[in-house]
Amino acid sequence: MAELPRSLPEFEARFPDDAACARWLLAKRWPDGFRCPACGQAKAWELGRERLTLQCAACERQVSVTAGTVLHGSHLGLRRWFLAAWLMATHANGISARQLGKQLGLGSCKSAWLLVRKLRRAMVDPDREPLAGLVEVDETSIPFRAKDGPIRPGRSREGKLLLAGAVEIRGKGPGRIRLAVIDDCSAVALVAFVAAAIAAGSTVVSDGWPGYARLKDVKHDPRVVGDAPAHPVLPWVHRVFADTKRWALGVYHGLRPKHLQAYLDEFVFRLDRGRTPAAASDRLPGLSLSLEPATYDILVGRS
Ligand SMILES: [Zn+2]
Repeated sequence: MAELPRSLPEFEARFPDDAACARWLLAKRWPDGFRCPACGQAKAWELGRERLTLQCAACERQVSVTAGTVLHGSHLGLRRWFLAAWLMATHANGISARQLGKQLGLGSCKSAWLLVRKLRRAMVDPDREPLAGLVEVDETSIPFRAKDGPIRPGRSREGKLLLAGAVEIRGKGPGRIRLAVIDDCSAVALVAFVAAAIAAGSTVVSDGWPGYARLKDVKHDPRVVGDAPAHPVLPWVHRVFADTKRWALGVYHGLRPKHLQAYLDEFVFRLDRGRTPAAASDRLPGLSLSLEPATYDILVGRS
């Protein structure tokens, strides 16, 4: 997939069936040709078209093109996975599990939900580099809905989730973004967020909240004096917070606290990729190659 298919017909032409998707995975996995992971031999026989397994001609080891990826062991066809990844990468405002389930013709809500969860997980690059340079950091809260109750401000069924956000400043505009769920706005939580998201030696611009006073390994540049509002000095992180709140309310009708981090990762993926949309779809299935399969237990937060 040199670049993102721009339309559904283009997607269908490139990935007409499971076998075409298997071919694409094969090429992605072994760009320089197959090598047996057991003995290093290059010669192999192909078994099965739709799931494509290679059998080493020397040691007879069998390797599936989906082994070690989020697609492995799924009863859904490869083409449905590819279509789901493409829909998630191209929908400007994200796509809910319910919408995706409808588009893919999935019978059960649970399988659509699991599919979306797995893809969301695959969107986070485990090797991504921490933010660096000049970085705005702030925290905010976003409302969530308990159970299936409507969102009504000030009512007991509504809760607040705390978020920390960081945005790189590149020249006059924003660079990469990180958002994370935090338990509270204490120094412990904020120092941990900064340590995980921002490289040592960077400069953190904050609103001067005492929670940032104990940052380690980064320079700290508190910009707010007295009661001045933080808005003018932290424009980019506030813009990201505003976008996050709009997205959270508008797209997923009710965020669940337990899964918020996964939703945030998808949102950040979309924002970061928004500047290079052609890379999104290529990256999405490509990323999943390096990931181990996510089990149901991992996805529901039991492990
Ligand atoms: Zn072999």
